[in-house]
Amino acid sequence: RNACEQYPAQCIVDLAVLRDNMRHLVSVCGGPGSGTAVMGVVKADAYGHGLIPAALAALAGGATWLGTAQSHEALLLRKAGIGPDRCHILTWVYNGVNVPFGELIANDIDISIGSLAGIDPAAAAARAVGRTARVHVKVDSGFGRNGFTEETFDEALRKFVAYAREGVFHIVGQWSHLAVADSPDVPEFVASTDRQIEHFNAFTARMEKAGIAPEIRHLANTAATLNRPEIHFELTRPGIGLYGYEPDPAMGTPSTWRLRPAMTLQAQLGTVKHVEAGHGISYGRTYLTPDDTSTAIVPIGYADGIHRSASGFDMQGAKHVQKDGGPVRVMTSEGPKLYRVSGRVCMDQFMIDLHGSCDELDVHEGDTVVLFGPGRGERFAEPTADDWARTAGTISYEIFTCLRNRIPRLYL
Ligand code: PLP
Repeated sequence: RNACEQYPAQCIVDLAVLRDNMRHLVSVCGGPGSGTAVMGVVKADAYGHGLIPAALAALAGGATWLGTAQSHEALLLRKAGIGPDRCHILTWVYNGVNVPFGELIANDIDISIGSLAGIDPAAAAARAVGRTARVHVKVDSGFGRNGFTEETFDEALRKFVAYAREGVFHIVGQWSHLAVADSPDVPEFVASTDRQIEHFNAFTARMEKAGIAPEIRHLANTAATLNRPEIHFELTRPGIGLYGYEPDPAMGTPSTWRLRPAMTLQAQLGTVKHVEAGHGISYGRTYLTPDDTSTAIVPIGYADGIHRSASGFDMQGAKHVQKDGGPVRVMTSEGPKLYRVSGRVCMDQFMIDLHGSCDELDVHEGDTVVLFGPGRGERFAEPTADDWARTAGTISYEIFTCLRNRIPRLYL
């Protein structure tokens, strides 16, 4: 905590909240022993929350799998001492050339194969390290990203069957990813997910016919974990829910309301000063103070991952349209108040217009302000990452994963 004080902003992650979110997700899947295991998706530094602490919290909450997109993060988990006795790990994004299949297999990390080009190199690596590779066959059930298509699947199956017979591969799983499961109220999206499920099942039938029935099938992200119990299969893969957010803030189900955001982003104010009406604020003078007021600097900017698209503009700024900037909660003499980014977000800081006198409002340099936190009425006027996402034209996932390491992570 002391070390963090020399930084102008801190990202605080409540690991007990993260653990409890996982407990909830595990219970949604029927609880331990239900036949459905839960993978904590901890890719991209656990969505910016910190790979190892978040992984340990997910395991404490009942996850028995961890998943990362990139190989090096899977290896980091094992290097941190999270051994195969604690959990399975699956990793899935490869660039086709520098894939450390041997190292992954030697470290008991399950690999995903979803293209013909990946099969032989994975088999060669397994032979080289003298181990059987645990393979999850990825199929493209309709996402249009990774995975075998109808066209490539027969040839893939021939190779999988051969390598499984040889003991080079153990085909552990079959899996795919859903494109629109976060819109359970939109009939065409529901129909699209239904079609993805049908395709997925058709691929399973082809695998079974070829004599390699996968033991574990997995398809459900957070949205489907919460809304589609019929496709929990043997494993679900929630990511955003673990961090306490809904995939789509409009989704709101009683189940998602039990998830709580684990991250709080806060900063200590820089210069707080009186400015006269009509003062231009930040690059481009896109915001002109409407009245005599005070401004305060929040010392965190786009170099820290604060989206420049969360800038706030005002009608008075010549050709600029009115647009809400990202929100900040400030404690004032009148209680907690919500302010918004005024003008453009800079590299290291942005400004807020306090719409009043800083003396009367009792706002000073060094005061702690909250950019986002658990919100949702838990703390008055506290914005959430969804609020920032709305003003930046993005999703909470991007708000977290863009936060740079210049902001220290502090764990509760
Ligand atoms: N599975 C895969 C393959 C993913 O890429 C992701 C994240 O994008 C997830 C699961 C988790 O998705 P969500 O964070 O929406 O739960």
